[in-house]
Amino acid sequence: MREYRNLVGGELVDAVEGRLLDSVNPATGEVWARVPASGAADAEAAVAAARAALPGWAGMPALGRAHFLRKVAAVFAEHAEELARVETTDNGRIIRDTLKRDLPGMTYLWQIAAGQVIDAVKGDTVILGPDTWGFTRREPYGVVVGIIPWNSPISTFSAKAAYALAAGNTVIIKPAEQACAGVLRLGELLADVLPPGVLNIVSGLGEDVGDALVRHRGVNKISLTGSTQTGQIITRASADSLKPLTFELGGKSPNIVFADADLDAAAAGVTINSIYTGNAGQVCVAGSRILIQRPIWTEMIERIASTAAQIRLGDPLDMATTMGPIVSSGQYERVLGYLEIAEKEGAELLFGGRFGAEVVPSLPAGYWVEPTLYTTTDNRLKICQEEIFGPVAVAIPFDTDDEALTIANDSDYGLASGVWTQNLARAHRFVRDLNSGCVWVNTFRQMPAGLPFGGLKDSGYGHDGVLEYTREKAAIIQT
Ligand code: NAD
Repeated sequence: MREYRNLVGGELVDAVEGRLLDSVNPATGEVWARVPASGAADAEAAVAAARAALPGWAGMPALGRAHFLRKVAAVFAEHAEELARVETTDNGRIIRDTLKRDLPGMTYLWQIAAGQVIDAVKGDTVILGPDTWGFTRREPYGVVVGIIPWNSPISTFSAKAAYALAAGNTVIIKPAEQACAGVLRLGELLADVLPPGVLNIVSGLGEDVGDALVRHRGVNKISLTGSTQTGQIITRASADSLKPLTFELGGKSPNIVFADADLDAAAAGVTINSIYTGNAGQVCVAGSRILIQRPIWTEMIERIASTAAQIRLGDPLDMATTMGPIVSSGQYERVLGYLEIAEKEGAELLFGGRFGAEVVPSLPAGYWVEPTLYTTTDNRLKICQEEIFGPVAVAIPFDTDDEALTIANDSDYGLASGVWTQNLARAHRFVRDLNSGCVWVNTFRQMPAGLPFGGLKDSGYGHDGVLEYTREKAAIIQT
């Protein structure tokens, strides 16, 4: 049994009260690791360490910080295979994704962040008069807390820590209790790479250590990736200290397929890279509502079904596997609950719907759900409005562009959207009129470093980029 520790002030330490949480391998249902169940005392220690490290880190020339960030990038490259295996064992994300997509992406992201340290200290000059100079200074907030979910912990860790550190903040990461071994392993690898206290990691429950960090007056900014409900709780809990917040929250993304689309590309795009093989639908941007124009309805459904039929569910550590399990027993129950809701709501099952040992008999205790597609014409059903966060999509027919837009925007969420069309004017209109933070045309789930990523409405606000971790000060000098 592997036991992980927190990283506080450059030291690997147990939780102050010595408590541990079990980490379950979702493919086998077995406890494979234990992680610290941190509380208020651990939050206190992490904040003290981050504050102590702040003057040295924030005061360091920007290129000095870049040097350290490049060393972190090298750690990702050197330990890619090991980190990918830990993450896959911990949360069931398939090794094809963790090894071939996530880890190479992280090396690149830390290098990009190193290249952006200058952006974080660039300001504007405003000549106010012959003897009057105005200028802006970009400064770090101070201590930034990054609260991250379980679905891609290493990537979310990097998206927050790399940019916050580049901007001169010191950082405390609170990973999710369901899957944090990969992030804690990173803590072990980075303990000697960064100056002590610059990066701290404390695992534990959201309502314990998470809440203590959110309320702490020594914390200057919070960046959460998680559910809308947690975003609301954190907004209330941080209100007394008026902390600036960045929220990347849930979604119910529409993927809209027009009759003029390249149907091969669209079928793969809405199926493989969007909802099913994309971490078994446990992706914030999952294209969980597939809108299909009526003339191609039958053909598209057949294509989606035959693409989904080729998905290989099974051991996520096997390179041949294309879809893994649901992350935890709690999330598994939640997804199964939505299968019942779909039936009660009268949605028609087009394929899938099986779960458990029947789906992967070789790993009978794993949390398996088949790729599943329902259809309805009523976008107000719960399965069309609520985030399921599993491999369950709903297909909805439409006739006109206006109707597609109305259905797509009829959601409390606004994270991402996909449009499949060969018509350039239509593509531009949908980019303009879809209410979401990101619109993909003839592609899906590309989130390249260098472009902002964040949502509208209940999907949150702000995005993880280096400027998000700086604030501006105005200076006026009269000579
Ligand atoms: P969650 O909101 O339950 O948990 C996220 C994190 O918040 C965890 O670390 C948790 O411990 C912490 N937390 C919970 N309560 C807290 C509290 N009171 N105070 C402080 N911290 C608290 O979300 P989850 O179930 O782990 O993840 C799934 C959600 O994350 C989905 O809604 C998904 O859409 C969203 N998500 C969004 C993005 C994005 O970029 N927009 C990316 C991935 C996941």
